[in-house]
Amino acid sequence: MAKVVVDAATCVGCGLCEQNCPEVFEMKDDGIAHVKTHTCASCDLKEVAGQCPVTAITVS
Ligand code: SF4
Repeated sequence: MAKVVVDAATCVGCGLCEQNCPEVFEMKDDGIAHVKTHTCASCDLKEVAGQCPVTAITVS
């Protein structure tokens, strides 16, 4: 199973990951993205990670 991590120190809170995959990513009041679950049936999470402008998402 994939493990998805958002580096809180790197995330700039643009919201793109939540826009791309709201199943996995959620923006919270602290202004950064949080990981809700590590799998998504409809997204390629490595692709979503690759679109993060500051490379804050790691999928392993
Ligand atoms: S795409 Fe990257 S910078 Fe933007 S909210 Fe998600 S983790 Fe943060």
